[in-house]
Amino acid sequence: MAIRFKNTFTRKKEEFVPIESGKVRMYTCGPTVYKQAHVGNFRAYMFEDLLRRYLKYKGFEVTQVMNLTDVDDKTIRDSNAQGIPLKEFTAPMIKEFFEDIDSLGIERAEVYPAATDHIPEMVALVKALIDKGHAYEVDGNYYFKISSFPNYGKLSNLDMAGLKAGARVAADEYEKDSVSDFALWKAWDEADGEVYWETELGKGRPGWHIECSAMSMKYLGNHFDIHTGGEDNKFPHHENEIAQSEAATGEKFVNYWLHNGYLIAEGRKMSKSLGNDYKLRDLLSRGYSKVAVRYMLISTHYRQQLDFTLDGLEAAGHSLERYNDFISNLSDYPGGKSDGTAQGLIDKALSAFEESLDDDLNISGALAAVFDFIRDVNRLKGEDKLSAEERDEALKTIRRFDTVLNFTYDTGDIDEEIEQLIAQRTEAKKNKDYALADKIRDDLTARGIILEDTPQGVRWKRKI
Ligand code: AMP
Ligand code: ZN
Repeated sequence: MAIRFKNTFTRKKEEFVPIESGKVRMYTCGPTVYKQAHVGNFRAYMFEDLLRRYLKYKGFEVTQVMNLTDVDDKTIRDSNAQGIPLKEFTAPMIKEFFEDIDSLGIERAEVYPAATDHIPEMVALVKALIDKGHAYEVDGNYYFKISSFPNYGKLSNLDMAGLKAGARVAADEYEKDSVSDFALWKAWDEADGEVYWETELGKGRPGWHIECSAMSMKYLGNHFDIHTGGEDNKFPHHENEIAQSEAATGEKFVNYWLHNGYLIAEGRKMSKSLGNDYKLRDLLSRGYSKVAVRYMLISTHYRQQLDFTLDGLEAAGHSLERYNDFISNLSDYPGGKSDGTAQGLIDKALSAFEESLDDDLNISGALAAVFDFIRDVNRLKGEDKLSAEERDEALKTIRRFDTVLNFTYDTGDIDEEIEQLIAQRTEAKKNKDYALADKIRDDLTARGIILEDTPQGVRWKRKI
């Protein structure tokens, strides 16, 4: 079955047909690295993780590009306010971003271009727009002339009638009621401090929107398959990306536009300015597991609003316990006498899982298929009606689901390190170094690992 996506551009659910058979090229607007990302931001990256993992599950070769916005109004404002050079200011934020996506089991994209490394490409694009009559200069600033691009407003369904011709906006972010010619390149002014480039356009720096057009087309070509982002990126950012790219190349830019809904907390969009932003690190230090945050972020359909609550995280933990216990108990099961029904259950689960995700990534349906499967196989196992071969098939099936869901990464990967620490603790106890033994236990507890001293030796389990 083919995958269908709700395309923001056409407002329809459409069958996904890649430009090049078997391959998918996709672009994701990445973080603006002026502050630590909150879990709302990770909702966007988690949706893109589900998308890329499912495309790979379906056999596509995926090339994903995610940019790092390391120069824009906000990074310049905050680095100057703190008196730190831009690159030094953004470096720790970039490092933390990668640590956080690893924590959440988000697969790395193929390319992470930083805007500051692509200034020549942006300048070339602005020049192409000037040459074709789509851009003009005012006092060293270059603006895109939206009246020169008849398709302007199609993505966000704007009514362009009654627009004031020639109105200009210099800020990177603005609301729909300020639809105007927007800045491609901004001349240096004092507030920019040391942040500028001397280029053929003069001394200045790029606008935010041109960054994504230049970097996406550099790595994916002028025309590629999928572009994603949070719904707040639709206008003006993605609208402007389309205008700049298509006006410069004369080609279609993107076939499918996919946007995720907001993560909300206490009834409002999670954002730093509202003070309702939870950081991943804070949640982890409060004892919630990484994979519970992953589960919570992935388990609501990407286009719907996701209500973030600590109770939701607890519930995610219980579902994960069921999932991971299923795998470990089934692995330990020696097998019984088949009643011939297991294969039917496996086939049913696989097709329900795929039919759901094929339908615009319907994750609720997919998770229901997985948990029904767990219940059914547990029942067969409980009645001793599952053969060793069927057990292996069932394990293969859940591992196949897990290539998309990735709910086991937080249990397996660190086994070896934990075993080593436990061995060190046993050794410390033998040497009567109880202080060290207690410290190792406390460190492990802080990481959510619970030790049990049993007559057979030390056993450990992860608090989910
Ligand atoms: P930013 O770093 O602000 O450019 O945002 C990075 C990504 O996170 C963008 O795709 C935003 O649309 C997305 N985003 C920001 N806040 C939220 C939220 N509360 N819920 C979902 N996505 C968000
Ligand atoms: Zn972007």
